[in-house]
Amino acid sequence: MLVMLAVLCGACHRGSPGPSEVASGALRGFNVLLVTIDTLRADRVGVYGGALGLTPTLDRLAGEGLRFDVAHAHVPMTLPSHTTIMTGLYPVANGVHDNGSFRFAGAKPTLAGELKRAGYRTAAFVGAFVLDARFGLNAGFDVYDDRVQGASANLEIVQRTADAVLAPAADWILNRQSPNPQSSINQQSAISNQHWFAWVHLYDPHEPYTPPEPYASRYSQDPYSGEIAYADAALGRFLGRLQGSALDRTLVVVTSDHGESLGDHGERTHGLFAYEATLRVPLIVWAPGSITPAVVSAPARLVDVAPTILDLVGVSSPPFDGRSLRPRASGEPSLDDPGSYFEALNATLTRNWAPLKGIVRDRVKLVDLPIPELYDLAADPGEQRNVYASQRERARDLESRLDRINAAAQPASALAPVDADAAMRLRSLGYVVSTAPKPARAYTAADDPKRLVHLNTMLDDAAAALGRGDAAAAVGTLQAAIDERPDLTIAYDRLAFALRAAGRTSEAVAVLDRAARGGHADRALLRSLGSGLRDLGDHARAIAVLEPLAREDASDLQTLDALGQAYARAGRPRDAEGAFKRVLDASPNASVTWNNLGSLYLSENRDADALAALAKAVAINPDLAGAHNGLGVAYARRGDLHRAAEEWKKALALRPDLADARANLEKITR
Ligand SMILES: [Zn+2]
Repeated sequence: MLVMLAVLCGACHRGSPGPSEVASGALRGFNVLLVTIDTLRADRVGVYGGALGLTPTLDRLAGEGLRFDVAHAHVPMTLPSHTTIMTGLYPVANGVHDNGSFRFAGAKPTLAGELKRAGYRTAAFVGAFVLDARFGLNAGFDVYDDRVQGASANLEIVQRTADAVLAPAADWILNRQSPNPQSSINQQSAISNQHWFAWVHLYDPHEPYTPPEPYASRYSQDPYSGEIAYADAALGRFLGRLQGSALDRTLVVVTSDHGESLGDHGERTHGLFAYEATLRVPLIVWAPGSITPAVVSAPARLVDVAPTILDLVGVSSPPFDGRSLRPRASGEPSLDDPGSYFEALNATLTRNWAPLKGIVRDRVKLVDLPIPELYDLAADPGEQRNVYASQRERARDLESRLDRINAAAQPASALAPVDADAAMRLRSLGYVVSTAPKPARAYTAADDPKRLVHLNTMLDDAAAALGRGDAAAAVGTLQAAIDERPDLTIAYDRLAFALRAAGRTSEAVAVLDRAARGGHADRALLRSLGSGLRDLGDHARAIAVLEPLAREDASDLQTLDALGQAYARAGRPRDAEGAFKRVLDASPNASVTWNNLGSLYLSENRDADALAALAKAVAINPDLAGAHNGLGVAYARRGDLHRAAEEWKKALALRPDLADARANLEKITR
């Protein structure tokens, strides 16, 4: 039974700041569409002051809805930030602090789970590997469409475009088809009248900045803006497609997981610092006819998103760190600012720099580092004047609030550190591995990321060089970073990656081997070492490195996949098949693993099985040249040379240097 309360708005008028009264449960029975545009810096959005006209769609939604002028993220990293949105909990409570090495354990309630329990059908459509189902945000979703495209070995940049995310989302919302044939997760029961919750994640503004045309040309000097303009336009087309019945009685919430520094405070991208360039995000709530347009100046947080949505649609909330923003939007008095916790721990976790934590409250921000910082954001929005020394009282108040949040921290759900047994086995190979998370140590000013940001820039420069295919430049930059700071563990792994990209595999393995013997071995580095040894043909040593890691943490799927490949090359097909199947159980859209499994079957002459696995690989990710080549082989063995030739041509179109495919094609056309 829908109860639509008339929205009274005596004190405001369209588009002006003012209260927008809406009752709890006023949107009961509404569909919910949550849109997260990755890496969208608030001040690039027109209604937030962006002057470039990049975001007509968002500007329209904001003009017709609620716009929260000051909204804060809690972590400037994709996976942990989205985890705060989905759980309504700070990272210290949901356990996810970084990309890749953490997963959401699913023990806490989620927005999707609560809506599903309330009878919604639920689906997510994500644009990047960093949000792959293996990292746990699929909890509560009937459908979790994490098919990404591209075949880069650097999984951080594997993504798909906004249009490729939004097309299956629109199909699902309109009940056209099941969007995710590979998913082992429950498919939706296509009941046309059941209300729905859809989360769409558009990754485009995240680097690399490579917008499609016409945005590439139009923004050739500012491709980041081009990505934003493209994502906004794609969202506009998507909403246009849903216009009418699908958008009637739908609550739309648009936000971002973090911004982008673009050189602010010396940081080029995001993740190292927590200045407003990356911490402040747009937040727009839209339900025309049900919510009166208004601009809300009271502070909002990403942990408030889930409780706000549940409040508006009348679904009871589990305990959250966040709280519903509805009363704030209604201008109810006597609500104090609870403050917004934030952290940026990637540099601590990957290179043992000082941990960055802080809190912003009443427009004052504390950044707790060896060189502490305090900013009065109202007077100094650019955070140029550190007033920590002169405003001790305000700093102390925020420090005690931060202490209370830290004291309530839950254990983190990182992938397991290397355990004692594994460490012993690795030691027998000569590798020095710490068996516990690095102990908290006394960090000094020399460990403050402010002092080390240039090293961060070197890592960024190397990644950018690799992205444009200049592996030699990346190698030089990374070697220089290691020379300056030999304990920069992550740089060894990146250097090895760059060397391998340049075809210098044995040098890459030597770098990793030396780093591991020198005490710089972490899980990621050892995984790279095992893969490198495998590619050099040293299967026994590869397995000796990878097996203990895979055995102790079954959720480390990248290691498991690498181990499967080592088994396959070492002539242990059943072990290889078992490893690949374990990966696919946890991550049904892992296209590279489907390709590996298909290749294994081909090598065993199990052609029907190979065909099925390889067809899945290219259905999920049409860019996998190797899978097309394998499919060609499978068709050829069946005598279907026409389809074989088609697949080999596809493989060569993707990778003209793929000698196997060329030789195969020449063989049948001769
Ligand atoms: Zn992100």
